Amino acid sequence: MYKKLIRRLLITIVTFACATVSGMAQDAIPARVIPVTPMERVFMPAHLNPGLAVDLDNPASYLYPEWSNAYVHKFDDVELPDSVIISMKGYVMPTDSTRITDKFGYRPRRGRAHMGIDIKVRTGDTIRAAFDGKVRISRYERRGYGHYLVIRHPNGLETVYGHLSKKLVGENDIVHAGDPIGLGGNTGRSTGSHLHFETRILGNAINPAFMFDFPKQTAVTDYYVYSKNTREVYYKVKSGDTLSRIAIKNETSVANICKLNGISRNAIIKVGQTLRVN
Ligand SMILES: [Zn+2]
Repeated sequence: MYKKLIRRLLITIVTFACATVSGMAQDAIPARVIPVTPMERVFMPAHLNPGLAVDLDNPASYLYPEWSNAYVHKFDDVELPDSVIISMKGYVMPTDSTRITDKFGYRPRRGRAHMGIDIKVRTGDTIRAAFDGKVRISRYERRGYGHYLVIRHPNGLETVYGHLSKKLVGENDIVHAGDPIGLGGNTGRSTGSHLHFETRILGNAINPAFMFDFPKQTAVTDYYVYSKNTREVYYKVKSGDTLSRIAIKNETSVANICKLNGISRNAIIKVGQTLRVN
């Protein structure tokens, strides 16, 4: 209840701030009201209007300070805004398969987080770009994603497509929503052909099911509001870590870590294990 009130308060602040921004930037166009949940409303900041100044050569430069092909998810020195409004405008479903074989989320028993969702596809099935964008990474990782692609989009998202049998685009290629970018497969750490699909913002994984409904082959929302305060944060245990050290590093409490992971204060934690810390 308390948590819910804080969330409502934050949304109100964001709403007010965004309304102020759009009010300053433009008068004639009415602010768009974005449904978040049936109870909450957030306004679209003018500078994120998807109709304005889309630069496919440097997508979402308002979030990402540089364009680099070096790392998949490494944005340690970039500060995440308090909230980002992600527009689903122009989306295309990456596959027409409707069967989810593994959900997004944390698997306490295995101490591992699954940062995407798995959708059943056959080897050779067409995989399509979810939005317009630019291919940031086109690579092969034997023990992980297999043949995979990372595409950055003007709406601030980066989408990841893993376990492909073949990649049809290369790094720095500009793609349009719905373009075939690869073929479904079973490469990397994968048992059975499937598409591993991720949606990230500055390296932070978001559950793709908040945006894409594969069983219904549609978008869940027109706009998804990503909030720094309510996001899930994961931490990989390093040598010498204790629960209290991990709590301090992540600005949380041991009690909170125990609650999030369903473990006790005396639980034995292993190096390399993933814990949810927020
Ligand atoms: Zn997966």
